[in-house]
Amino acid sequence: MSALNIILMGPPGAGKGTQSRILVDGRGMVQLSTGDMLRGARTSGTEMGRVVAAVMDKGDLVTDAIVIGLIREKLTDLHPEGGFIFDGFPRTLAQADALGALLDEVGQRIAHVIEMHVDDAVLVDRVSGRSTCAACGEVYHDQTRPIPADGHCSNCGATTFTRRADDNADALRNRLLAYYKQTSPLIGYYYAKGMLRHVDGLADIDTVTQSIAAILDG
Ligand code: AMP
Repeated sequence: MSALNIILMGPPGAGKGTQSRILVDGRGMVQLSTGDMLRGARTSGTEMGRVVAAVMDKGDLVTDAIVIGLIREKLTDLHPEGGFIFDGFPRTLAQADALGALLDEVGQRIAHVIEMHVDDAVLVDRVSGRSTCAACGEVYHDQTRPIPADGHCSNCGATTFTRRADDNADALRNRLLAYYKQTSPLIGYYYAKGMLRHVDGLADIDTVTQSIAAILDG
C-alpha cells in the first residue's frame, strides 16, 4: 500500500522547510528537498556541485535532468513508512510528469499537494534575515526567531549558523520569477488531478502546522 506522500508547494519563504521539519519530527516522514541535496552537492565539491553553484546563486532553476536524477536515487533507496515530503520538487511540468512516472515504478502515489499561499511583500522579510543551524538545520530568523542569546542552537546546542548565498534581494527576485513562471503552472496541473489543497502560509507556524495536519488526517 502507498504511504502518505505529499508535495509542499509555495514560493521561497512560504515555510516549506519549517513545516517539513515539523512533519519529520512528528510523523516520521522523510523530507526530500532538492534544494538541500543541491547545497550538499556544492559543499562536497562534486562535479555536479560545481555545475549547479552559479545557477543556484543567481536564483535560476537547475536542469530537470539533474534534480530528477537526485529524486530517482532517493525513491529507489528509501521506503519510509511515514511517507515522503517533496519540498521544492517538482518545480516544472516536466519534473511533475517525471515524479508521477517514478512513483508508479515504485508503487507509490502522491496523496496531497499542499499549496502554501503567501504575499510577496512578506517573503522578502522572511527570506532576508533567515539562518539555519549548520549541524541540525533548525531554522532561525533575525526578527521573528532569533538565535538564542547564548549562541547555542535550541535544538542541538551547536554554535555554527549559516546563511544561504541566494537569500539576497537580487537572487530572491529571480527565485520568485522562476516560481511564478515555471512552478505556479503546477497548481493548475494538480488541481486538475484533484490533488490540490491550500493552507494560509501567512498564519503563524502552529496554525499552519494544524492546517496541514487537518489535511493529512482528514
Ligand atoms: P530551495 O532550497 O528549494 O529554495 O532551492 C534552492 C535553489 O536550488 C533553487 O533556487 C534552484 O536554483 C535549485 N533547485 C532546488 N530545487 C530545484 C528543482 N526542483 N528544480 C530546479 N532547481 C532547483
